[in-house]
Amino acid sequence: MEKKDVDWGSLDFNYRETDYSYVSMYKDGKWDEGKLTKDHTVTMNECAGVLQYSQSCFEGLKAYTTEDGKIVCFRPDLNAQRMHDSCLRLEMPPFPVDRFVKAVEEVVKANAAWVPPYGSGATLYIRPYMFGYNPVIGVKPADEYMFRILVTPVGPYFKGGMKPVEVRIPDYDRAAPHGTGGIKAGLNYAMSLYPIMEAHRQGFNENMYLDPATRTKIEETGGANIIFIKDNGKTLVTPKSDSILPSITRRSICYLAENYLNMKVEQREIFLTEVEDGEFDEMGLCGTAAVISPVGRINDHGKVINIKSGMDDMGPTLKKLYDTLTGVQMGRIKAPEGWVHEIKVD
Ligand SMILES: *Cc1c(COP(=O)(O)O)cnc(C)c1O
Repeated sequence: MEKKDVDWGSLDFNYRETDYSYVSMYKDGKWDEGKLTKDHTVTMNECAGVLQYSQSCFEGLKAYTTEDGKIVCFRPDLNAQRMHDSCLRLEMPPFPVDRFVKAVEEVVKANAAWVPPYGSGATLYIRPYMFGYNPVIGVKPADEYMFRILVTPVGPYFKGGMKPVEVRIPDYDRAAPHGTGGIKAGLNYAMSLYPIMEAHRQGFNENMYLDPATRTKIEETGGANIIFIKDNGKTLVTPKSDSILPSITRRSICYLAENYLNMKVEQREIFLTEVEDGEFDEMGLCGTAAVISPVGRINDHGKVINIKSGMDDMGPTLKKLYDTLTGVQMGRIKAPEGWVHEIKVD
């Protein structure tokens, strides 16, 4: 299979149209058989549920080429399950978990020429999403839904690569207490756009949100979970809260920290005062897009909180976790059973 003529190494995190998308419709109480399409445009009624009341959710995962030349994706069953959970919270009909994984395989296979080669630093980003399709004017769930998967080749999410970023504490919340912070809904992102643009205007890379109820505990950034390292690299600490999106990257890192690197993992409430008191040596953002990105500094309304590892380099323990995670993903380190999902291309 001939790869597309793309300068893989210089890709950024932007949409680029590929050959095929996947589409399935939910109508009359059931999902149709689904198919690949070359049509990258969606046409719908002006009163569609998604346009009026934002009934939509999505997922994000990557396909890439391993060291031995296989095309794989990482734990797609967990994305399928999480989208299932998002759908239930939004009164949408879940797309069956096994069909989700098959659809991901089908659309990646059809776009195999767009999967970046091993070592390029680029990946094929896979974006499954679902939305209310038929007209809805009184407030209620739609009756018809479209499930689609688009794929697009991307480079690193943070341009600086492994350079530490600076985050600020915003005056806004990402999610409400007992709200939708724990699911991957488009609405969580709509309301984060103003705060993220304000952060950028002020010269910060990201917002670090505190818990919406008390504003004393650390939650996550707009699109990535947070991990801390303490005890000379022996302990990983990550926040526990219902309003944090349960990142698959974070769950994988915690497993690898415990089982591959012999670290202790604590998932618990983390107070901002602990960070101010210098309790942690390293801090990182993690997610499919961010992988692991170091944080060097937190800005709390002008008050600077320095993380010990500083603004020059990624700390040694995050680096070790990064190498372990990407090693497992790329096939250089033996992965736990079922993590690396091969997509056979004939
Ligand atoms: C998608 C997402 C993450 C990262 O989750 P992964 O499964 O690791 O990609 C973290 N936080 C938010 C708010 C997200 O939407």
